[in-house]
Amino acid sequence: MINPLDLAFSSISDYLSQVDTAPVFPTPENVEELKIFEEDLPNTSSEGGSIIRLMDNKGAPATVASTGGRYFGFVTGGSMPPVLSASLISTTWDQNGALEVMSPVGARLESVASNWLLAALHLPSGAGVGFVTGATVANFVALAAARHALLKNQGWDVESKGLFGAPVLQVVVGEEVHISLLKALGMLGLGRDRVVKVPTDRQGRMRADALPKVDDKTIVCLQAGNVNTGALDPALMIAQQIEGSGAWVHVDGAFGLWARASANKKHLAIGYDLADSWATDAHKWLNVPYDSGLVICKNPAHLKGAMSATSASYLMPGQQSNGCDHTPEMSRKARGIEVWAALKHLGRSGLAELIDRNCRFAVQFAEGLANAGYEVLNDVVLNQVLVKFGNADTTLKVVKAIQDDGTCWCGSTVWQGHTAMRISVSSWRTTQDDVEKSLAAMIRIAQQYS
Ligand SMILES: *Cc1c(COP(=O)(O)O)cnc(C)c1O
Repeated sequence: MINPLDLAFSSISDYLSQVDTAPVFPTPENVEELKIFEEDLPNTSSEGGSIIRLMDNKGAPATVASTGGRYFGFVTGGSMPPVLSASLISTTWDQNGALEVMSPVGARLESVASNWLLAALHLPSGAGVGFVTGATVANFVALAAARHALLKNQGWDVESKGLFGAPVLQVVVGEEVHISLLKALGMLGLGRDRVVKVPTDRQGRMRADALPKVDDKTIVCLQAGNVNTGALDPALMIAQQIEGSGAWVHVDGAFGLWARASANKKHLAIGYDLADSWATDAHKWLNVPYDSGLVICKNPAHLKGAMSATSASYLMPGQQSNGCDHTPEMSRKARGIEVWAALKHLGRSGLAELIDRNCRFAVQFAEGLANAGYEVLNDVVLNQVLVKFGNADTTLKVVKAIQDDGTCWCGSTVWQGHTAMRISVSSWRTTQDDVEKSLAAMIRIAQQYS
């Protein structure tokens, strides 16, 4: 009998060797073949080799090649081979990251990864870090910490008493807030629709001059990296404006916060270190495999106050550092191991170079498309490009044809009234050649519609 692990390793190397030549989105035929999985729950067992073979033959051809170099949809990182390898080892170890006593190595590597993360993003050392599944959950956890801290200041213990009868909190967001932040507010009982929305400027940034009056019962949510334009809210101006108010400043920096890791881009992200909490992703720009998000809280006691199962445990000094005091989960994968591996692999210079390279490619896309006569809607300050191929109808037809062509994959969006194609350059794997091939395909296809 074949060892399924041996088969899995050859399947992995085969997959990686073809991911750059396969169509970026599976063909309709490959998607159609997924029907082979639609069987009744088997009565008898299957051996591992046959399961791997089935995944290989019918699953792999229907994957989206988002780990390849020409996937520009949403904001999607690839997975760097050293980190993928670390992830496979970590999965083999199968450590529970809930408690230090359950995995000394998990706790140690997550602790090191926390310190490195704060150093890489130039955020206050000593901040609390939680390893979660994505920026949505990171937003949720950070806003829970904000809710904990602000209500505690009002003499209200929200974890034990709940929100009924609690002092009322105001939540301020930008007009172009990411929907995941609103979802997090909904899950926390803070409400998706009762937020105060601050108008944004022509790049989607919150307008500091339009900020409402804030106080010590206000959470102000800034955005580092508008999902359409890549623009960052003017954090320094806003922080200075509300200084001394007692408001909690939270940052949704799913990908844009990583600008702080590049000497060439950090000017976009000044003042973000003045916030109280941050949410970001490792599975976007850090190119860690799914799923990996990071929540950071300047005062770790607020993070523990919101997340500890036993509300008093964080008051005990000298306690072990337990992952479950920083995240909603109790048992969970020690996913900080992959963050550790990514930062170990890249180092400061590799990380900065990755950010800069992706941003350079975004500029190249914008220039190439503009030179071919298409309108680029945003200032390309980071890794995001918005381009129009004429009116909404034509633009959507071009986007669909680009997707069907299979050279690369981009999605569409409606931003400030314009229907546009979004290009997000976020993968370590994207090369100059990928950019040239993709640009040529985009222009060749667009020209058929104009
Ligand atoms: C992607 C993104 C999110 C959501 O992150 P997930 O990892 O998908 O949960 C939140 N905010 C912004 C700005 C994003 O770009």
